[in-house]
Amino acid sequence: MNEPGLPVAQLLRQFGLRPDKRLGQNFLHDEHTLTRIAAAADIRPEDEVLEIGPGLGALTRHLARAARTVTAVELDARLLPVLQHTLAGYDNVRLIQGDILQQNPAALMEQAGYLVVANIPYYITSAILRHLLEAPKKPRRMVLTMQREVAERVLARDGKMSLLALSVQVYGQARVIARIPAGAFYPPPKVDSAVLALDLYPQPRIPARQLDLFFRLIKAGFSQKRKNLRNTLSTGLGISRNQAVALLEAADIAPQRRAETLSLDEWQALVSRYADWLATNSDTAT
Ligand code: SAM
Repeated sequence: MNEPGLPVAQLLRQFGLRPDKRLGQNFLHDEHTLTRIAAAADIRPEDEVLEIGPGLGALTRHLARAARTVTAVELDARLLPVLQHTLAGYDNVRLIQGDILQQNPAALMEQAGYLVVANIPYYITSAILRHLLEAPKKPRRMVLTMQREVAERVLARDGKMSLLALSVQVYGQARVIARIPAGAFYPPPKVDSAVLALDLYPQPRIPARQLDLFFRLIKAGFSQKRKNLRNTLSTGLGISRNQAVALLEAADIAPQRRAETLSLDEWQALVSRYADWLATNSDTAT
């Protein structure tokens, strides 16, 4: 990088600020790490980038050098004057003060296929993933720095599946591209961090018309982690245990298995059987 990194501690002092722990403010100051994150996003000159929580602007500057435009949404109004200072001269950056969860990505981005690159506030990791993945205008890739343990949970396979892993894997292929030592941040966080890259599929692995059913099924399945699917589906879907058994057997899944042991392919089969079952039942009811 030609430009030196941001002097994070000095900037905070200069603007009379202290990092706000409640907002997950651990600022990245290691230029090598910032370069790796921006490189992992593989930004093309025509790309639009969405950044969540630009903080003091350290990552934003890397993104702005590579992208056509960067839209950066920062909740903490105290940081806006700092960002205006550190990003002076980067005229392709648009700063928005607000909560990312209250912003509609479809309204912020010109078209689908944008990139999301961010060192996100860890306290809302799952909510951010859901918000962006379920948006009608979807990104093509997301490169997110998050708590390492959460990144590993996203990558889990059958045997250790979770609601989080399924809700992400249905939309794209995830990989961890780097682990980041706590010393790369100011102040250093108490947890380990990792960078997760998620390449979205052109279409989710479950047909769009069945996604609601898929989420209903997995929520029911994981509602009581230690119980078998015969019980959790019966309670969660409001069907009898015999009906739950029939549904599972129709999808070639043993009724005594637990939700965490099913692969995405098996959930796919189950969604399909459940859709058939609902269609048949509504025929009977009419
Ligand atoms: N990107 C900066 C960096 O790498 O140094 C800061 C990252 S820091 C982990 C997370 C940032 O997200 C903070 O600046 C925090 O104020 C901001 N933030 C927290 N909650 C937010 C929300 N709901 N919407 C937008 N930004 C948020």
